[in-house]
Amino acid sequence: MTDTAYDYDLFVIGGGSGGVRAGRIAAQAGAKVALAEEYRMGGTCVVRGCVPKKFMVYSSTYGKHIKLSAGYGWSVGDVSYDHSAFMVALHAEVERLSAIYDRNLKNAGVDVFDDRAEFVDAHTLRLKKSGKTVTAGKILIATGGRPWMPSADELPGIEHAIDSNGVFEMDTLPKRMLIAGGGYIAVEFAHIFAGLGAEVTLVYRGETVLRGFDDEIRLAVHEGLKEAGVRVVTKCTFKSIEKTGGGLMVTMSSGNEIDTDVVLMAVGRRANTDDLGCDKAGVKLAEQGEVIVDEWSRTNVENIWAVGDVTGRVALTPVAIREGHAFADTEFGDKPWKMDHSNIPTAVFTQPEVGTVGISEAEARKTFGEIDIYKTKFRPMKNMLNGDQTRTFMKLVVRASDQRVLGVHVVGEDAAEMIQTAAIAVKMGATKQDFDQTCALHPSSAEELVTMRTKWVPEGV
Ligand code: NDP
Repeated sequence: MTDTAYDYDLFVIGGGSGGVRAGRIAAQAGAKVALAEEYRMGGTCVVRGCVPKKFMVYSSTYGKHIKLSAGYGWSVGDVSYDHSAFMVALHAEVERLSAIYDRNLKNAGVDVFDDRAEFVDAHTLRLKKSGKTVTAGKILIATGGRPWMPSADELPGIEHAIDSNGVFEMDTLPKRMLIAGGGYIAVEFAHIFAGLGAEVTLVYRGETVLRGFDDEIRLAVHEGLKEAGVRVVTKCTFKSIEKTGGGLMVTMSSGNEIDTDVVLMAVGRRANTDDLGCDKAGVKLAEQGEVIVDEWSRTNVENIWAVGDVTGRVALTPVAIREGHAFADTEFGDKPWKMDHSNIPTAVFTQPEVGTVGISEAEARKTFGEIDIYKTKFRPMKNMLNGDQTRTFMKLVVRASDQRVLGVHVVGEDAAEMIQTAAIAVKMGATKQDFDQTCALHPSSAEELVTMRTKWVPEGV
């Protein structure tokens, strides 16, 4: 397959989820492939995102479980938590996974460069550390995203704050933590650090966290943060951060001041295209630096594609993987297909967690008019003996005209696991009757998804 005019058939920029999948599949299809990664193989997901975050979620739940175990007859002596010991174990596992990514690529025959690649022109890249220049027939941009931070003009004292990458570098547990933002990252870390024993304050500029999710899910998460002991401040932003003798002091837009040890900014992410040389290759970017692509992940330049977070489509690992796989199959495997961005299941690892697939009630009403809603809220069986008052909330959004289930939304223990399976049914176009005809699995929380029979009627109707 190799086009001898170039060093490689495919050059992938970025060793994250999307880039690694694309490189491996293209190489297995017989292409001559190279990949450059400037930091560590595995990208955000493996190195400083989903994977280490989920380990932190697991770690942070133990304290509560130890306390609750008394209801089941256990008595546990003095307990303590050692953050630095945990972080050593976490980094060892991340290291192991990162090495597997590297090995899998090399085993597939991909040339891996531990280097930063930047465009010289549409077919040429310069490797920054080595100074070497390489050419490729096709180039895939898979450089992902990075946390966005306001500038020092926008937020004086920003240099004292950390972003989500910084969380994985903290080897001691702060006593107090102040988090800005109300998205996935802010609410997940708020629960993690509250669970580990820190005093957490979350400051959100809006009214209810998790904009974009179903309103009742948002409310449940918002209230859940408070129940977990997080102080939630809304309609507020930071005005300045100052170093004090005992830590940091943040002045808020309300004029109030909050003393803290760590300030975590979780106010969104941006595409990683700074200084990549997209202009030299002629690749068009959107306003915030995202690479503009079509449904086949093609940029405006005929030999250049982009997948994953850098495109600003849906910033989720499995989406990047599928986009990368589709690109490689299409361009090198003679099996054209494209990623379908509808009905992507997603989870927010709050405690309890959120799992959701399909559209929200508000979106369904706006798009389809008449909608049937089924919902339930209950204390899961496990909590009956341990005194935990946490409830599980479930909601089905159904199109009235044909009874198709448009959305399944759950807040509760194992919501992510439930939704991954429910997503198959939603993706297949299941109706409410299909859910009704599915036999329950007892005793479980998930059985409630197939036993909701009474349509919700708004009060006063
Ligand atoms: P999000 O876009 O989810 O949230 C950003 C938050 O910051 C919002 O609450 C937003 O408010 C607020 N914000 C934005 N700009 C400002 C500002 N200037 N001042 C104050 N607040 C501001 O971003 P995240 O960084 O949390 O996550 C990025 C993406 O990464 C997610 O969208 C998701 O796709 C992915 N991710 C997925 C996870 C998972 O699958 N579990 C976990 C973590 C991340 P507003 O709502 O008003 O816009």
